[in-house]
Amino acid sequence: MKPLRQIPEKEVALYAYLHDLPLGFGGCPYSHEAMRKEIRVLLNDFEVKHPGTKYALLSGFDKISGILGREFPQEGLSECSICGQACTAEICQACKLLGRSK
Ligand SMILES: [Zn+2]
Repeated sequence: MKPLRQIPEKEVALYAYLHDLPLGFGGCPYSHEAMRKEIRVLLNDFEVKHPGTKYALLSGFDKISGILGREFPQEGLSECSICGQACTAEICQACKLLGRSK
């Protein structure tokens, strides 16, 4: 579950700042070595030059994800017995962390 996945990161941070919510900017100490950072920089540059790029990519992904999921089902993926979300175990990690039980 990613309730803020369509909200740009900067807007989430601004909202948190304006509402005096705790901000956690601590990142992985090895993130500077990750290809993910290069992609983030590339996407941010592209977003500045062509506003709406990130949303268009997410929207496109959402459109094809159902088709891809049917064509290439993930083996070993089942539903959490508590919340029903996809997971690889009987109980998902979110339910375990929240202390949910049957
Ligand atoms: Zn669950």
